[in-house]
Amino acid sequence: MEKGGISVSTENIFPIIKRWLYSEKDIFVREVVSNACDAITKHKRLVSLGEAKESETAYKAEVKIDKANKTITFVDNGIGMSEDEVKRYINQIALSGAVDFISKYEGENSAGSGIIGHFGLGFYSVFMVAESVEMNTKSYTDAPAVYWECDQDGQFSMKEGKRTERGTEIILHIADDEVGYLDSVKLKGILEKYCAFMPYEIHLIYDDKDEVINDTNPLWQRNPADIKDEEYKAFYRKVFLDYRDPIFWVHINADYPLNFKGILYFPAQRSDFEPLESEIKLYYNSVFVADNIKEACPDFLINLKGVLDCPELPLNVSRSYLQNNVYIKKVASHIAKKVGDRLNYLFNNERENYEKMWDAVKPFIEYACMRDAKFYERVNEIVLFKKHSGGYTTLSELNPPAEEAKAEEKTAEQAADTEQKEENREPAKKNIYYATDANAQSYYISLFKSKGYEVLLCDTLVDSNYLQFLEDKNENIRFLRVDADFTDINAGGEADKSLEKLFKKAVGSDKLTVKFAALGENDAPALITVNEDSRRISDMMRVYRMGGSGGSDFPLEEVLTVNTNSPLIKKLAEKSREKDLAEKMAKHIYMSALILSRRLSPSETTEYIQLNTELLSKL
Ligand code: ADP
Repeated sequence: MEKGGISVSTENIFPIIKRWLYSEKDIFVREVVSNACDAITKHKRLVSLGEAKESETAYKAEVKIDKANKTITFVDNGIGMSEDEVKRYINQIALSGAVDFISKYEGENSAGSGIIGHFGLGFYSVFMVAESVEMNTKSYTDAPAVYWECDQDGQFSMKEGKRTERGTEIILHIADDEVGYLDSVKLKGILEKYCAFMPYEIHLIYDDKDEVINDTNPLWQRNPADIKDEEYKAFYRKVFLDYRDPIFWVHINADYPLNFKGILYFPAQRSDFEPLESEIKLYYNSVFVADNIKEACPDFLINLKGVLDCPELPLNVSRSYLQNNVYIKKVASHIAKKVGDRLNYLFNNERENYEKMWDAVKPFIEYACMRDAKFYERVNEIVLFKKHSGGYTTLSELNPPAEEAKAEEKTAEQAADTEQKEENREPAKKNIYYATDANAQSYYISLFKSKGYEVLLCDTLVDSNYLQFLEDKNENIRFLRVDADFTDINAGGEADKSLEKLFKKAVGSDKLTVKFAALGENDAPALITVNEDSRRISDMMRVYRMGGSGGSDFPLEEVLTVNTNSPLIKKLAEKSREKDLAEKMAKHIYMSALILSRRLSPSETTEYIQLNTELLSKL
């Protein structure tokens, strides 16, 4: 017997287990129950290879609490161990591993959390809570049963045992200061955390109760084709304790070389103030390993929640191990790819649902596009924009009205001809019109819509960044807010020097820029436009100043655009008109344009009302 050799090392082990692993004590449950499940899997495999007899009893593991005797007993009907195997697997291997552990960490003073991540103590973790341990085990072979026992100082003894059924029973005599583990609520909580998805039924037996605590067929292990939406939602609610349904999800079954399974959910967002944090639970063959594995989630998809089962990773992983792990980085980028694929699938096959969820996912998708070039490539064609006329459109589905009309008129021959020409020409910039506030910009919106243009509603902060980003990415598109520029809808209004002078005089500013555009007869006689670039800078500065100190506004480049088709403007242009009245009319037209563009100041309002009264009284 090799008793002496081992005890030299073990003398050091148990105090160290106690000292170092204090904060992670609960994991002894995981270690013992997963050993039990492994032992069952091994038996199953031997049966399938024809090397062991079919099991006569259903495979299961039991965890029994005996408060009176202060024991917790784990029983399984797995493969069991012969005397020789106990010597090899329990007495030697584990201890030699523990010796490594000691030589590596002794002297380091970082006691507490995280240490278990460096080294799996496996079976011996039971000594964190037990003062002595007994084991009865019977191999699936004809080998005689074994009784083994070990005290807190690592002194073990073994002899032939009395167990008759195949499998292993491990009895922990709980130490006096750890009797909290005899509480069924506490133990159940630990089992539910670590063993909720282990592959064989795990029974918790206490006070004459027998409860199965796990789901032996976790959703991610099943074939996606057999799973109903309701099951995905129920799983999400149960695992993430969120009463709201997720918005969409991705079920991944990655083969070699990544070899992992998982379900990632895009959660509903409660409010803007809810903290955004990915919540990824990591499993190792259905055994819970750790929570909040941010490293496995692409950092630009900041809000995903999900479960990942990675048998490629060790059962014991530490944060620092994951942070620089190449494998986990690949997992994260595979997840990003799959999220992109899923969105494409929904866009192509379930457009209606895709549009329904769009408002909720939009800010995240736009953010992700700006953060990750690959993700942008994957989804840029399916990013939706809300149309003012209702519904959604992609940028490529959005055609300016003129082009549409032209395309219809063209014969095939002409089309071929123009295509030829277009190839040699720089593609013209496509102007896309948008509004940031449907109410405030309503007049401009209807102006563009009456000319056949669709107007997009881009009313969030992320939107404005995203439009800029798209322009940087695509040279040939330009976003213009509806009040920025009338070039596209101007049917060729000619400048009138004397009218320009009149407006400048009326407004009392030489600096007023006046332009002319032929708009519709019934359109406003004049409108204010604000240069797109100057407005963007001004908006941006306002955002940066938000909550901070004031400062002068960025000067907006405002232009008064006079509608040469308006009957009122035509009248105003008649030279014979009384000068004073003409000026008042011009001022009134200018102020009406201001009203369509922005809110008037109190003094402007007063002035406008006086002007109105004066002009009306001339009727
Ligand atoms: P690990 O599980 O990482 O190998 P452990 O210290 O937990 O390390 O266990 C050592 C070995 O003891 C296992 O690999 C297994 O061969 C054996 N063993 C532990 N528990 C059982 C069990 N319940 N049934 C059969 N064999 C077991």
